[in-house]
Amino acid sequence: MAASTLTPPRIRRRCTVVLEGCVQGVGFRPAVHRLAVGNGLDGSVRNTLQGLLVDVEGDESAIARFLDDLAAFAPVGGAPSRRSVTWEQPTGLERPFSIDASLRDGTTELVPVPDLTTCDRCLAELTDRNDRRYRHAFVTCTTCGPRFTIVRTLPYDRDGTTMSGFAMCSDCRREYESPFDRRLHAETISCPECGPALSLRDRDGRLIHTADPVETVAGVIARGGVVAVKGIGGYHLACDATQAVAVEELRKRKQRESKPLAVMVKDLAAARTLCHVSDGEAQLLMSAARPIVLLARRAATRVAGNVAPQSHELGLMLAYMPLHHLLLEAVDAPLVMTSGNATDDTIAHVDDDAVHRLRGAADLFLLHDRPIHVPCDDSVARVVRGAPRLVRRSRGYVPLAIRLPVRAPRPILACGGELKNTFALVRGHDAFLSQHLGDLSNERAYRSFVDAVDHFKRLLDLAPEVAAHDLHPAYRSTVYAQSLNGVERVAVQHHHAHIASCLADNAVDRRVIGVAWDGTGYGVDGGVWGGEFLVADLAGFERAGHFEPVPLPGGDAAIREPWRMAAAFLRAAYGDTMAKLDLPFLRRLDPAAWRTLSQAIDRGLNAPLTSSAGRLFDAVASLLGVRDRVEFEGQAAMELEALAEPRADWTYATGLTETDGTMVVRTQDVIRGVVDDLLCETAPATISARFHATLVDILLQVCTRIRQHTGVGAVALSGGVFQNTWLLGAALDALETAGFEVYSHRNVPANDGGLALGQAAVAARRMSGKDSG
Ligand SMILES: [Zn+2]
Ligand SMILES: [Zn+2]
Repeated sequence: MAASTLTPPRIRRRCTVVLEGCVQGVGFRPAVHRLAVGNGLDGSVRNTLQGLLVDVEGDESAIARFLDDLAAFAPVGGAPSRRSVTWEQPTGLERPFSIDASLRDGTTELVPVPDLTTCDRCLAELTDRNDRRYRHAFVTCTTCGPRFTIVRTLPYDRDGTTMSGFAMCSDCRREYESPFDRRLHAETISCPECGPALSLRDRDGRLIHTADPVETVAGVIARGGVVAVKGIGGYHLACDATQAVAVEELRKRKQRESKPLAVMVKDLAAARTLCHVSDGEAQLLMSAARPIVLLARRAATRVAGNVAPQSHELGLMLAYMPLHHLLLEAVDAPLVMTSGNATDDTIAHVDDDAVHRLRGAADLFLLHDRPIHVPCDDSVARVVRGAPRLVRRSRGYVPLAIRLPVRAPRPILACGGELKNTFALVRGHDAFLSQHLGDLSNERAYRSFVDAVDHFKRLLDLAPEVAAHDLHPAYRSTVYAQSLNGVERVAVQHHHAHIASCLADNAVDRRVIGVAWDGTGYGVDGGVWGGEFLVADLAGFERAGHFEPVPLPGGDAAIREPWRMAAAFLRAAYGDTMAKLDLPFLRRLDPAAWRTLSQAIDRGLNAPLTSSAGRLFDAVASLLGVRDRVEFEGQAAMELEALAEPRADWTYATGLTETDGTMVVRTQDVIRGVVDDLLCETAPATISARFHATLVDILLQVCTRIRQHTGVGAVALSGGVFQNTWLLGAALDALETAGFEVYSHRNVPANDGGLALGQAAVAARRMSGKDSG
């Protein structure tokens, strides 16, 4: 009773806290410093090769408060971190809390940080005439600015970034070192005195002297010009999105006839004047990653129709670096901001190369002298059924780890596919998916793939012992995997990888009915698959059903020319009597071209059979007169979807045949239904809706049969066809109503951009089974 409860004894304690995960470059060290000093604690914080090491010493209750405060601290980007606390013997020394030099001991377990959009406080300084960073196009702080695209090595220190060439002025140095400044240890700190600067060049690369490069550029854009603008992950081509003539000129120069172009606006209010924006979409637009968000376009807007022809959607993004804010302020109009390249090429990011490659496209170049170490395209996303879903996962998301449902006992490199390529490196549970690298049949894209693999290996300090790849022997990613020495190889079938990707995206490892619908993928029988029903888990799969194979006349040419698929499907459904059908499509068809094609099919010349769902969409689009030739894969399907009425009143009866336990969907029945409707002049919008609903009907029928046979009650939807929001929404509704548990994509694309994650998950599962067995 003698000890008074009013004055508890002060107990001096000391503990170390290890923080792992995405903890460097997001403002953790300054936050730890602030919290420690605020609670009157001594000690230090430093970057390590594993994350952050915090060492605090002081009053026991103050340490407890500090640990609570630290747990409540949420860094930008919301990346998860893990922490462990160890109690130590107090030193008893007075040592004012400090940020110490990075430790470089042990093995690397760092998670690098993606590029972060400009924060509100930096934006306020940018527009404050009295601030010393007024109109400084490179204003950043501890919680914002470029990261992934400027980091050469880890831990995240200025010396390891492309800012290393800029020596801090005395004012910046003072802020950098001051415990009370919000730029304490801001590695990208700079100001107009000491930081990067803007410059202008003409088409021949000659410097243009001007008092204010941004104003000059704004003038050129206002007069309908096209300007190449260096950004965070590469160059954009910019023009005034409200001037149809300027947009047309940009299209001509970029050789991009009709593919939708992205538009940048300054803020959410500006976005709302152009598109309908739900709360979920607003959140996605405003997120630190700042992706291009596909939104429903308003009926009457300032944006020219040729920005996104044949579409009800517009891809909008908000300004995400200070330069964009200055530019949009000066132009005062929404800007087309499309990646600086010719169609199918990689984004230009090195200054001299950019001027060389884009001189035919741009009237003027707006450059800066902060090097881009890693090129990185803008990400693309949309909200379906309230959930954000990535269509292209790149800037702002890369290189955040995706946690696999299974731990890889050894480091894995998953090489991805051929189109929309990304690769993944796996360490333990963490899969690090690369930025979008594009079509590897393009030489420049292949070189950037090889460079990016090397960069990720160095950054993560990882030497893969396993290489996962597609079954297709001619994919360059496969050939690359085959060329690696001293690694074990795991071949993963294309559609199995799609389904595994969807499982990994949902952090589950269980047996599902996998519906994998896409353009093409190499089957285990060497065939061209693409309308697949698999019973699968991460370890393996069986092919339970597929679309009836039809010839792909002319091979790859049939992908570029949907009319070939329409003809092939008509022939499959009607044989020689197809010529008697009174269809507008047949009146358009060149008889000579069709005769040649038909003979080639008969002789089996360059007309492999395919079960592709994507090609069925192409065929119907062509029959309806939507499009006979495409500029990019999936274009005809996108336009067919845009055409569809929101609801269907009818579906086309479609038969299933069953051989040896495999179900075959009689797609020619679908074609007959479409043709009957065309013959009685049903509106294309109605036919398109009926066609979509028919596919949902087929999906439900086949899944129900498989459930009866196998007892598997969960479905995973993957493959590029499920980027079709009409189809995805209706499929989710139908399957859930029928009592299925349904998995669909969120964090990685349903298209081939997600393949690497699936390959990684399959390889990890097979390794873990083997290594423990
Ligand atoms: Zn900031
Ligand atoms: Zn400075």
